[in-house]
Amino acid sequence: MTDSNKIHKPLVTLGFQETDFDQDELTSDFFPNKVGGKPVSSWLSWLDLGNLPLNSDFKCDVCEEQMSFLLQFYAPWSDHARTYHRMLFVFCCQKARCHRYRVFRSQLPKVNDYYEADQEDRRYEEGFAVSKTKQDARQPQCTFCGCAAPTRCGNCRRVHYCGKDHQSRDWELGHREQCKQNNHTLAKRKAEFHYKEFLIVCDDIEQTPVVLVTNKHTNQDGGQDDGGHDEDEVEDDYESEEEEDGETASAAPGKELALREGDSGNVTMDHEALENYQDYLAETGKDNEFSEKTFTNLKDRQLAIFKQTTSSDRDQILRYCRDVNYQTLWVSEKNVPTDSDIPCCPNCNGERSLEMQILPQLLYFLDIDSNQVSSIHDIDFGILSIYTCKNSCEYDNKTKGIQEEFIWKQDFTK
Ligand SMILES: [Zn+2]
Ligand SMILES: [Zn+2]
Ligand SMILES: [Zn+2]
Ligand SMILES: [Zn+2]
Repeated sequence: MTDSNKIHKPLVTLGFQETDFDQDELTSDFFPNKVGGKPVSSWLSWLDLGNLPLNSDFKCDVCEEQMSFLLQFYAPWSDHARTYHRMLFVFCCQKARCHRYRVFRSQLPKVNDYYEADQEDRRYEEGFAVSKTKQDARQPQCTFCGCAAPTRCGNCRRVHYCGKDHQSRDWELGHREQCKQNNHTLAKRKAEFHYKEFLIVCDDIEQTPVVLVTNKHTNQDGGQDDGGHDEDEVEDDYESEEEEDGETASAAPGKELALREGDSGNVTMDHEALENYQDYLAETGKDNEFSEKTFTNLKDRQLAIFKQTTSSDRDQILRYCRDVNYQTLWVSEKNVPTDSDIPCCPNCNGERSLEMQILPQLLYFLDIDSNQVSSIHDIDFGILSIYTCKNSCEYDNKTKGIQEEFIWKQDFTK
């Protein structure tokens, strides 16, 4: 074993589901990490409340329907004054055939028009509220989707909308009655059209990079295929896993999950392992009843690394790390992006780098509250990798409160 002092272990922030929370914690004033719900309104949570995005900013480029808000993650950078507050927003199209995901960043300096400069320290104080001036600087939000709302109900004039479409949908869904009764509380029913809402709590870990050790003789040509992996510097054997049944375990201790490509040189997927993994997501995501056999025959190196890396915290739904030594996880050797697949920042033309990964475990926790919209069940991914401008550059806050970044979706290979 290499001396552990010599191994650089990036600090990785893991995100987990938290269902026990106060609704207030989901509002913008708490800079929440959260999944589902609307990205705004009385619950939530744009960052730049004076420059709200338009509904049309979140159109799927395939079907042109509005995408659904998936999650947001508060990721301030101390590197620049402009990134004192910083949030990532992830959206997805609910239609199976589209499979489109988009990510946006939003940022604000410490002193800004919408939050108190000491808000992070004081937000949990009893009775804390931002000043009226700052409240007034915040734009009204569409009660249906949370985007910028230039129009409002002509009758009561108290409910705001992004446009006619959401106004009429809201009318049908209940504002007709609310308007008559002068009831402006946000109706629960609206949540039915959005994903289940919960808070993400975080835990930082030092991540030891995983290196797959191939059996005996394969080292000479180990680096020559182009699977897109380059985990090579750190010599760190797997910790030995419990051998169960020993049906296919290698004779070499600690190498049960090692590649077995010595015979043919071909790496093929093990379908059973994949199915077992998906069963795990579907059935045992909440407990630790993970069968070690699941991956016994695994031949896809990236999936093996994924499994090994996440094995100690199986309920993690996201991983956040800006360290260049972070070992990017993939669930397959296929469709791993190369540097040239990651476009530059369209705003400053600078490079982007990996910032966050969303894991398929999220799908397990994302059970949908409503079966009214059947297509909502169709979102699916193996892993989502989010690449952002290395500078988190300044964009024109006066015209928009968000800057689009880049997301790479990888699926399980079937
Ligand atoms: Zn679409
Ligand atoms: Zn709207
Ligand atoms: Zn009204
Ligand atoms: Zn940029």
